[in-house]
Amino acid sequence: MAQIATIRPDADVLDAAVLEDVVTGSLRLTPEQALRIHREMPIQELGHWADARCRHLHGDRIRTYVVDRNINYTNVCTAKCTFCAFRRTGHEDDAYTLEYEEILQKIQELVDIGGTQILMQGGMNPELPLDWYVELLSSITDRFPQVHVHAFSPPEFIEFIDFFDPPGATLADKLRGVMKTLVDAGLQSVPGGGGEIFADAVRRKIGLGKCDAESWLTVMRVAHEFGLNTSATMMFGHIEGVADRIHHMELVRRWQDESISDFALDGGGRYMAFISWPFQRENTPLGRCAEWGEGSGDDMDAPFPGDVVARLDGTGDKRDHPKYGRRIRMAGASEYLRNQALSRLYLDNIYSIGASWVTMGPHIGQAALAWGANDMGSVMMEENVVSAAGTTYCLGEPLLCHLIRTAGFTPAQRDNAYRMLKLHERPQSPDLMVDDWSSQRADRLHVQNDAGCGTGGDNDQAVELTVQRN
Ligand code: SF4
Repeated sequence: MAQIATIRPDADVLDAAVLEDVVTGSLRLTPEQALRIHREMPIQELGHWADARCRHLHGDRIRTYVVDRNINYTNVCTAKCTFCAFRRTGHEDDAYTLEYEEILQKIQELVDIGGTQILMQGGMNPELPLDWYVELLSSITDRFPQVHVHAFSPPEFIEFIDFFDPPGATLADKLRGVMKTLVDAGLQSVPGGGGEIFADAVRRKIGLGKCDAESWLTVMRVAHEFGLNTSATMMFGHIEGVADRIHHMELVRRWQDESISDFALDGGGRYMAFISWPFQRENTPLGRCAEWGEGSGDDMDAPFPGDVVARLDGTGDKRDHPKYGRRIRMAGASEYLRNQALSRLYLDNIYSIGASWVTMGPHIGQAALAWGANDMGSVMMEENVVSAAGTTYCLGEPLLCHLIRTAGFTPAQRDNAYRMLKLHERPQSPDLMVDDWSSQRADRLHVQNDAGCGTGGDNDQAVELTVQRN
C-alpha cells in the first residue's frame, strides 16, 4: 500500500494496458489523466477498472462493515455552512448539547448489539470548555474500555484552538497540545468530517466560518504524527467543478504520501479510508440555489459555472463566472458511482474506499461494491446531520450482510483499523439466520424543516428492500 508508483503524464489512460498498470499500482494517475477518465470513460468501463483495482487490493472474497454509532453531541455551532441543515445558534428550542449520561446510554445500546466503535462529532459549540471533552472521553473509556472512540473532525479541532488558545508558535504546535490532552483522555482516531471540497473558491462559498484546507490537512497530519488513523471525505455535487474534486483527491494523496514517509516507521497513523457522497439539499440555504439550466438566463449549452472556475491546482477564482456559487449541479446515482470509482483509481495510497449507502440508499450502496468500494461502512443506529438535509437510510446488520452477500461477497465485521472481527460464512451469519425478511426493512430518515433535527420522529419511514433467499 505504501508503494509509490511511477507517473507517466503522456500515457493514454483510456488504453487498457495503461489501466492494467493503474490496477496493479505500478502507475499513478496524474490530475489531468483523472480528469480525462472522468470526462471520457463510459461508466461501466470505469466501474470495471475500479473493481479490478479493488480486487487487486482486497481480493475477490470479502467485503466489510463496522458496527458503530453516530453520536452528535451538540448541534450548536458557530460556523454557517450553507449546505448544513443541522446547526443551531444555541437560542432555538431544538438546540441541544447531550448530557454525559445520554451519551453513555447511547454507547450502552451500541454495546448491546455488538458494536465496537463510536463516531462522535458535533457542531463547534463555544460554550463547551476543554475539560468538558476530557471528562466525556474519560467517562467513556472508564465505562466502555472496549469501545473505540473515533471522534472530533478537523473543523472541531480548529475551533478548539480558537476557543482554548493553547500555547504554541504554529498551528501544528497548538494542535499537538490539544490533541495530546484528548488522546490521553481516550481519543483513538479522527474522522474526516468537514472535508467537503478543498479548493478555496468553493470553500469560501459554502463553508462559512469553517477551517481552510491547509488547516484541515494539518489537523490530520498531527493526528498521524500521534499514531492515530484518520479518514478523508468529500462532499460533492453542488457548486464545484469536476477539477475541484480531483484537486481534493490530489491533496489527500499528497499529504498521505508525506504522513507515510514521515511517520510510518515510528508507528504513525495515516488516512485509512476515503468516503465521498453527494450533497443533500433539503432544508439548506445552498439547496435553494437553482440547478444549472433551471435559473433565469442559464444557457444549457454553456459549461457549468463550477467547471469554468475549477482548476486542477485549486486556484480557481470565483470572478471567472458571474453565476459561480449561485447555481448547483446535483449528483445522482451514476455521478456518485463515477466519482467513487475514480477515487479508487486515483487514491492509490488509501486502503479503503467506503460505499455511501446512507445517502444513496441500500441498492446504490450495494452497486458501489462493484464500482471500487470494499467497505459498506456502518450499520446505522441513528443519523442526525445528513438526515436534516435530505433522506438518509438506516440499516441493521442482517440487511447490511445481505447486501454484501448478494453483491457476490462474504460479509465480515471489522474494527476501526480494518482488522476482521467476524467472517460471516457460516449459517449463524446475521443475514443467514433471518427467516422472515418482511420484518427487516431499511428505515428511511427524513427531517422536514419544521420537524427539527433528530431521528425517530414522525417523518421516519420504513421502505421495502427486496430480499430473496438464495
Ligand atoms: S456542517 Fe458542521 S461546521 Fe458547518 S454549520 Fe453544520 S455543524 Fe457547523
